[in-house]
Amino acid sequence: MNVLIVYAHPEPKSFNGAMKDLAIETLTAAGHDVVVSDLYAMGFNPVAGPDDFVGEASNPEFFSLATEQTKACEDGTIAPDIAAEMEKLKRADLVIFQFPVWWFGLPAILKGWADRVFARGFAYMPGKKYDTGMFNGKRAMVVTTTGTSADTYAPDGIDGDILTVLWPVHNGLLRYSGFEVLKPFVAYMPGRVGADGRKTYLDSYKKRLGELEATPRLFFHPREDYGTDERLKPGVLARSGVQRNV
Ligand SMILES: Cc1cc2nc3c(=O)[nH]c(=O)nc-3n(C[C@H](O)[C@H](O)[C@H](O)COP(=O)(O)OP(=O)(O)OC[C@H]3O[C@@H](n4cnc5c(N)ncnc54)[C@H](O)[C@@H]3O)c2cc1C
Repeated sequence: MNVLIVYAHPEPKSFNGAMKDLAIETLTAAGHDVVVSDLYAMGFNPVAGPDDFVGEASNPEFFSLATEQTKACEDGTIAPDIAAEMEKLKRADLVIFQFPVWWFGLPAILKGWADRVFARGFAYMPGKKYDTGMFNGKRAMVVTTTGTSADTYAPDGIDGDILTVLWPVHNGLLRYSGFEVLKPFVAYMPGRVGADGRKTYLDSYKKRLGELEATPRLFFHPREDYGTDERLKPGVLARSGVQRNV
């Protein structure tokens, strides 16, 4: 299978760097074709804007990112750094996002990668979302680290359920654009678990990489669970872990 690892950490010797290297080694040894977007090493520009396009603006009087993205995807006038990432995504059967949780979300360089690469016309279009998303047939997995413990990210923990913290990535980015989303792999506070704890994380991650087919998928309600207002129909029990019946 073709795997794309999108990696966002400024320090190659970090624990995130170690997880990325382990994934390259393990997946390659298993016969997969692995491509890495090392965003810091690439100096990837995360700021979306008018420079994302090489053609004529659709409306020179008023800049709309989504409108220009749509036109550029049709005309083939998206900037080369974005086009290169799009090609990697097109080829990928599995996308791994490797990043530390920063302020309960993605590091800005990775968020900006998503803003620019998951462009309208490439990653979504009207009527093309969730079950009918543009990336149907592809799989994705979040692999991340935190600064605090698994307890703090328990459903009753002070930081809130890790699946709630990751919902904007899992649902808002990946499922929205059609990916099947695998259960995330989270190494909680690698800086505070000692050498044995870190070894256990790397061993478990290696095991996970060998069991991707059997890794559970996150549950997202299918289209038929929603009414025309796009709310869960009466009687449908909210099961995503984040949505709730009101
Ligand atoms: C801006 C910012 C915002 C943040 N926001 C949050 C937040 O909202 N929530 C939260 O929980 N945390 C937050 N944090 C903390 C952050 O998530 C953690 O510091 C980070 O996830 C730890 O991962 P790391 O790769 O940077 O670890 P590192 O500090 O790089 O590594 C941890 C340890 O692993 C060791 N190591 C590296 N390679 C190996 C190897 N091959 N084998 C064994 N050991 C190895 C390192 O030497 C180090 O001792 C934030 C941090 C920043 C800077």
